[in-house]
Order: sequence, then C-alpha cells, then structure tokens
Amino acid sequence: MTKPPSKEFEDSIRHAGSLVTTCEFCGRTYFCTWEHGDYEKGELEELRTLAKKEPNKYIEITDANAQSWGYIDGKQFVIGCPCNSARKYEDWILEHRYLIADYFKDRAERLKKKLEHEVGISEAINELSKNLDKFSKCIKEAKASKMDFPSKQGQRKVKAR
Ligand SMILES: [Zn+2]
Repeated sequence: MTKPPSKEFEDSIRHAGSLVTTCEFCGRTYFCTWEHGDYEKGELEELRTLAKKEPNKYIEITDANAQSWGYIDGKQFVIGCPCNSARKYEDWILEHRYLIADYFKDRAERLKKKLEHEVGISEAINELSKNLDKFSKCIKEAKASKMDFPSKQGQRKVKAR
C-alpha cells in the first residue's frame, strides 16, 4: 500500500471543500452529513443507497460539512483519500529536488538579468525624457526671448509710420 502524502503536501494541494466530492484518481465519492447539507431532493438518499451497495466507493462523512480537495496533475484529489495518489507526485518532487532547485535557480537568474536589462532601458528612457524636458524648456525660452525683440514685420510696420 502506498504511503499517504505528507501534511505539508496535502496543504499545498488543498484548494477548496465541498459537500460532495469525488477523487478523480480512484473514483471514491465523499458526501458530508454533519450539518444538514444543502442536498437536492433525493440526492442524499441516493448517495446513501449507493454507499450501502459499495461502501468502499461511496463514503459518508458524518463529522464534517465539507470535504477538502485540490488539483494535482489536472485531476481532483480528495485530501485524506486512502488511494494516496498524491504521494507519487510528492515522492517525485523529493527525488528530483536538486534538479528542481537548479531549475528554479536558473530561471530566477535569467529573470533577474531580464529585469536588470529592463530597468536599464527604463532608466535610459527616464534620462531621455529629462533631456527632452530640458530641450523643450530651452525651445520655450528661446521663443519667449525672440518675442522681446521686434520681428522683421514689426520693424517694417515701424518704418511704415
Ligand atoms: Zn482517491
């Protein structure tokens, strides 16, 4: 029999809790009846009938109103399900932890370099933008200073008087 996944791994998988949930690895269906569950008419009776026929496949949980579950490898896994299907993924991760650690380290370094490059571009754009501000200020000042002197047209008008 497979060992159960660790609590840490189950906590990482845990996504939600449901009144009725099926483990997609083994097909077991869990239904909770601790507090009056929100079952549709006849649904609970049907589940109890199925549980009588196949007690290992339909499991009534009388001390909770939701059964935890989560996804792993695209399939719904019920937390605590005795098929222990999540264990093989945990074992794989543990067995390849150095490879995985190296992989994430490489990814992080590549991402860091990319971000540094982008920060460099961003700083260059900021510098350019500051220079553009200075440039446009210079143009404004130049235009303003020209207005202090009479234009050629203005000079002609003066002569025309
Ligand atoms: Zn299962």
